[in-house]
Amino acid sequence: MNVLIHEEEDVADKSMIIIGAGLAGLAAGCYAQMNGYRSQIFEHHGQPGGVAAAWQREDYLIDGGIHFLMGHRPGQSLYDLYSELGTAQANRFLDMHEYGEFLDEASGRRVLVTADLDRLAADLKALSPADAGAVDELIAGARAFLAAGTFDVGLGDPPELMGPLGMLKQFWGMRRVYKYLTGKYARPVSEWVQAVRDPWLRQVIENLFLPEVPVWFVLMVLALLADRQMGLLEGGSGEFVRPIEQRYRDLGGQITYHATVEEILVEKDRAVGVRLADPTGTLRSGSQHRADVVVSAADGYSTIFQMLGGRYVDAKVRVRYRDWKLIRPCVMVSYGVAREFRGDPHIRAFILKQPFDVGGPGDQWVFPAHLQL
Ligand SMILES: Cc1cc2nc3c(=O)[nH]c(=O)nc-3n(C[C@H](O)[C@H](O)[C@H](O)COP(=O)(O)OP(=O)(O)OC[C@H]3O[C@@H](n4cnc5c(N)ncnc54)[C@H](O)[C@@H]3O)c2cc1C
Repeated sequence: MNVLIHEEEDVADKSMIIIGAGLAGLAAGCYAQMNGYRSQIFEHHGQPGGVAAAWQREDYLIDGGIHFLMGHRPGQSLYDLYSELGTAQANRFLDMHEYGEFLDEASGRRVLVTADLDRLAADLKALSPADAGAVDELIAGARAFLAAGTFDVGLGDPPELMGPLGMLKQFWGMRRVYKYLTGKYARPVSEWVQAVRDPWLRQVIENLFLPEVPVWFVLMVLALLADRQMGLLEGGSGEFVRPIEQRYRDLGGQITYHATVEEILVEKDRAVGVRLADPTGTLRSGSQHRADVVVSAADGYSTIFQMLGGRYVDAKVRVRYRDWKLIRPCVMVSYGVAREFRGDPHIRAFILKQPFDVGGPGDQWVFPAHLQL
């Protein structure tokens, strides 16, 4: 979320414009209303949720968004946040006892990634005794995150408001995992797995999340799983989002859908409002809306380079957008299958014998040997 102006003074009767009704925009709106702002959200799309999206097709729900939720149990600080936003009460979050099952199409080998780290270590070593060292390293990292209380620290003050004492506290809380946040553990997991000898085990570890994420992220996921801090959304992304939108409206917030912000209006280097794209498509003649505070909860690139025209970019930000590698594109193909999957792991990842092709000649996509269901 990009907060463009933060004002410390009395907010009574201050107005706020929020760009985007994804989870960040809706949450920002709820907290704005709770804190006395008169806020409104402009959303490009016709419904809330942003990328946390689901589609109903006949009897099937196609859920393209959030599949698991961190901090889903009462007592965890994220749960308090879900409660304040009204979605915890309206949903049932199910504990994740396992992450998923990986199957190798060629050899028939399979492994279930469970929340029990001892069992996981034993199962991975059984797959490839020669990789016992790498497995021990992975599990030791997960245990370090587990001992650090994983990430219930996440809801402290943001860094700019934390102050020296807060930073010291955070540093102390995370002392056991600092080693894992630097060096080889901060590199993509696809690099770290090169030391794993068994090709299939390599693929399993690499695809526990995405090959591009740093190793520490995978360690954190395993730790969260072991700590029962990962849950499933029984009703899917749509049911998670809907109560938050309702909460925002109940708090007096207003949302305008099909409203695309084209420009953030700036006067004397302060954001003072937004200009919407003209629905008729005539360039640069959309309506203008002013507010004391403008918050962009749209993606960073469009906020910085389009809505603000790239005028407020330092070298660091420019380098990030120019040089950082993007993750490989993911393609989601959804099938409705008329049967229940009760008792099955909720993720099944198949490592295929060979890649498969989509599209005709000249328009061909070759997918790597990995398929997730
Ligand atoms: C396939 C997938 C699976 C995921 N799985 C998980 C998961 O299992 N667990 C988990 O915790 N997270 C998951 N995530 C991540 C999580 O869904 C996102 O981090 C989160 O939903 C992002 O919310 P956001 O509000 O920051 O951004 P977005 O959802 O991108 O919302 C931004 C909103 O701004 C609007 N907007 C953009 N530009 C403009 C404009 N110019 N004018 C007006 N409106 C504009 C967009 O239409 C959009 O509604 C997943 C994400 C994806 C894509």
